[in-house]
Amino acid sequence: MSTFEHPEFRGHERVVFGYEEASGLRAIIAIHDTRLGSALGGCRIYPYADSGEALTDVLRLSRGMTYKSAMAGLPLGGGKAVVIADPHRGKSPALLRAMGRFVESLGGRYVTAEDSGTGVDDLRAMAEETDHVVGIADKRDENGEVHSGDPSPATARGVFVGMQACAREALGRADLHGLRVGIQGLGHVGHHLAALLHEAGAELWVSDIQEDAVRRASAEFNAEVVGVDAIHAAPVEVFAPCALGAVLNEDTIPEIQAAIVAGSANNQLATEADGERLRRRGILYAPDYVINAGGVIDVADEHHGYDPFRVRRRIDAIADTLTEIFGRSRREGLPTNEIADRIAEERLHAAG
Ligand code: NAD
Repeated sequence: MSTFEHPEFRGHERVVFGYEEASGLRAIIAIHDTRLGSALGGCRIYPYADSGEALTDVLRLSRGMTYKSAMAGLPLGGGKAVVIADPHRGKSPALLRAMGRFVESLGGRYVTAEDSGTGVDDLRAMAEETDHVVGIADKRDENGEVHSGDPSPATARGVFVGMQACAREALGRADLHGLRVGIQGLGHVGHHLAALLHEAGAELWVSDIQEDAVRRASAEFNAEVVGVDAIHAAPVEVFAPCALGAVLNEDTIPEIQAAIVAGSANNQLATEADGERLRRRGILYAPDYVINAGGVIDVADEHHGYDPFRVRRRIDAIADTLTEIFGRSRREGLPTNEIADRIAEERLHAAG
């Protein structure tokens, strides 16, 4: 399929293809929208079957970043990069440096960051060729402790405060003590989230395809273990998807017992219509790109000389943004995902 006719192309400002024979670089950078600022988005390295598959992924993900940054109140636009390569075998230093030069060629219009298939070391290799990289600096938190570029703790913190806003809206309480929460996926974000919830006195139900992750959470947080096919239907008040996309669909939604869905996973709704499906069942859905913005807030701040207090304020403001979305959703009788898109578009329109 050609680029302009691609169903995901709509609204993109620029799509650039990068090729370098010597290093084997085959990459695409998609810049969706720069009305609010430079386009920030991660660089994904994945062995796509062909350039068509890579193009679909990069276009879809870059638009999501525009909305995420707009809703997080960041002076940034949305973009994304993909490299067609195997992240386990194909990441040579030459390829990473070539990707750095490709990013540099856009003169700061696109700023790259970590995504699946890339880590801090890969970004540091790219940064040998360009300044337009975030997520590589060691950062000092509010307590003076130094952390690596990993954004997951910040993402988990955002989900935690977002969950408090959800509990206020749906259950009339902000205190999470005694709240039953089911977490799907105990990876970087899920494990941090479980720790925050355990500390707040929540009761946890957990699930992961990796047994050691489940065993660890069960021991550390006294969590109830649930099978991977049953976690969405666990007897909890909050379901927190922190693993995969498309977990909210026509098969799972009727089985959800929770009053709230609030988790970090990207693209949780299988289709836009699933937002309405949740609303009709009376389940409060925290739009994924709003509640999982803690990570982008954290890495984006490196651009302004990292200030942990400013980062914390912006992450805590995720709760206010969700409260605004929930209020409008109630008043206008529309699903929360649709309201979030509308607010993001209003902010972009006002800027442009
Ligand atoms: P991760 O790869 O560290 O963790 C994902 C976990 O989910 C793994 O432990 C994996 O074994 C588990 N998993 C996979 N399939 C599963 C299934 N069917 N059932 C239960 N568990 C399953 O990833 P992460 O960084 O923790 O991110 C989690 C989600 O949040 C992803 O969708 C990611 O895109 C999104 N996200 C992450 C960040 C961040 O800062 N890391 C920011 C925004 C969004």
